[in-house]
Amino acid sequence: MAYRIGIDIGGTKIASGLVDENYRILLKKTIPTLSERPYMEIIEDMAQMVRELISEAGIDSSEIAGIGIGCAGAPDRKNGTILYSNNLGWYNVPLAGELRKLLGIPVSIDNDANAAALGETLAGSAKGSSCVVMITLGTGVGGGIIIDGKIFAGSHHTGAEAGHHVIVSGGEPCTCGRKGCYEAYASTTALIRMAEKSARMHPESQLASSLKENGRLNGMLIFNAVHQGDETARKVLDEYLFYVSEGLVNLVNIFDPEKIVIGGGISAQGELILEPVRRRLAQDVFCKAVPLPEVVCATLGNDAGIIGAAYV
Ligand SMILES: [Zn+2]
Repeated sequence: MAYRIGIDIGGTKIASGLVDENYRILLKKTIPTLSERPYMEIIEDMAQMVRELISEAGIDSSEIAGIGIGCAGAPDRKNGTILYSNNLGWYNVPLAGELRKLLGIPVSIDNDANAAALGETLAGSAKGSSCVVMITLGTGVGGGIIIDGKIFAGSHHTGAEAGHHVIVSGGEPCTCGRKGCYEAYASTTALIRMAEKSARMHPESQLASSLKENGRLNGMLIFNAVHQGDETARKVLDEYLFYVSEGLVNLVNIFDPEKIVIGGGISAQGELILEPVRRRLAQDVFCKAVPLPEVVCATLGNDAGIIGAAYV
């Protein structure tokens, strides 16, 4: 049996796992990133984490066919370098080369959202599909495009940034500097912004009481209010899902995927978010003569990033 190791590195934590040929995670480890440190310290911690995985599994490092890393930011896959990562504050970090020097095992890198899309396609909600679009709705919006079972990210492998296509020209400011990006409307950050604005306009709503009580809203408080029948919260969710669908219609028109996977914390809401999205897609996609893509929620959670990274 050949094993692989997948590492998912973000601004707050680094998750890793020993993955077998059937895309199962046999052992997992998580450490804090502490991203303000020099990058070499972080890479040394990653090497130590890999050594521990190998020794705890009772295998030899020669049985590891490769290590893959999914990293928030823009990867240069050919040179194994992270060109930049906002979350980590990295510029031109030779991630793959340095880790390979420490471990003597081949290392490849990719973007974390691409790795998650590959993970869901290999072992999760899109298993068996060859053309998949995944969006991860969190603080930002990540995009991953799988074509013929492989990650597609353009000529420099920095494309597939679904979060940064504009859906409202001149709209809300985005972290990238443009206005009206998908991320500025479909991220959980955007949902919270919409909910807090609505709560202030409707002081009688449960959303408003929740905001007053907690000082800030979050995804859980908003969905609690929806589940308890608060009309203001329901309208906020409808507005938010309108924007989520706008971007998905664009992606369906461009890629005609078999499956759309929605990931991120919000995917725990299942049909509550899927049903309105499916309705909008049926109404708005350009070609109505072919079956619509199946819209599903991600099923692997954070494991998708580990399994996908192992195979990038
Ligand atoms: Zn943007």
